[in-house]
Amino acid sequence: MIPVSPLADSFGRVMCDLRVSVTDRCNFRCLYCLPETEEAANFYRTKFDAVKNPNPLQPAALQWKPKSQLLTFEEIERVVRVAVARGINKIRITGGEPLLRQGVEQLIARIAQIPGVEDLAMTTNGFHFSQKAEALRAAGLRRVSFSLDSLDEKNFKRMTGRDGLSEVLAGIRKARELGMNPVKVNAVVIRGINDNEIEALADFARTEQLSLRFIEFMPLDSGHTWLADLVVPGREILQRLQARHALVQSKPSHAAETARRWKFADGAGEIGIIAPVTEPFCGFCNRLRLTADGKIRTCLFSLGEHDLKPLLRGSADDAQLEERLRGIVWQKEERHHIGEPGFVQPERSMSCIGG
Ligand code: SAM
Ligand code: SF4
Repeated sequence: MIPVSPLADSFGRVMCDLRVSVTDRCNFRCLYCLPETEEAANFYRTKFDAVKNPNPLQPAALQWKPKSQLLTFEEIERVVRVAVARGINKIRITGGEPLLRQGVEQLIARIAQIPGVEDLAMTTNGFHFSQKAEALRAAGLRRVSFSLDSLDEKNFKRMTGRDGLSEVLAGIRKARELGMNPVKVNAVVIRGINDNEIEALADFARTEQLSLRFIEFMPLDSGHTWLADLVVPGREILQRLQARHALVQSKPSHAAETARRWKFADGAGEIGIIAPVTEPFCGFCNRLRLTADGKIRTCLFSLGEHDLKPLLRGSADDAQLEERLRGIVWQKEERHHIGEPGFVQPERSMSCIGG
């Protein structure tokens, strides 16, 4: 069904993809998202002479949003329905760690039955996935992306601030057993931390027949300590993998696809490269984000957010909500400005924005 009037921005881009964050909380403390451990601080301090932030950790007492400020499942469902009626067809449930939101499978079930939702996926750190997998599958979840940045227990802990490699690997196995397809794995690569594992992660994708995407480190960490020198450019990752394997580039499945993908020549497994820092793809961006506390973000790097809560908790009807969404989308930024003079990192980290 082609919507009468889709959600379009002033640059002619039409929105199809809504990322819904269901919580800002997380059980991990990833170095690139919510760094917490002293080891993480030391990495940032010693790697470079001048870190921009002398205390490169998140504030000691992390200020999670009070539960009363988080959207209820009814409110989230309403926003999704209104957006889907105007052309959004892909929904991704994320966070924080979405599996920490109690009853998240009930939200999945509500969204799965909205006519027009063609693709419903989740991004998770995978720690709790095995226990919840069957309920999620039964609720209608068909696709899942796991975050896994290291296959080495010690390095996994350095990256995530927690032990948990075996739980995440079990979650990935469980998703495959349940026939979720594709099972994707995301690895953020940080120079000097896990760039020595690029080849091992690619081999993992090959032997486990997974789609593994390498992601460039973006300035979205809570410590605001991102440095360009920590980014391993997608091009460098690709060259290293091409030196070891015959890779065949896959055709993009659609113009807005963020990953460039390659299959191993023997057809087992796939690798992807997501390079938002060194090869931005803003020109085709069709994504919107709804934060757990009800704000629409039109770009990962937006410096402003648009609060839907007053409408959702006031007396606005769906037509008014739609009108507001339409106005917000029209103002979507043309592109990000990472690396340019005057670039300002958003205040909230990826865990609060919803990756
Ligand atoms: N907790 C879940 C997880 O880790 O998969 C979902 C939320 S997490 C914010 C979503 C994705 O954002 C993850 O794949 C994570 O690796 C990625 N991410 C977080 N911070 C990032 C950063 N600074 N640069 C690039 N990717 C980042
Ligand atoms: Fe948590 Fe995901 Fe952020 Fe890691 S990337 S701290 S798992 S929200």
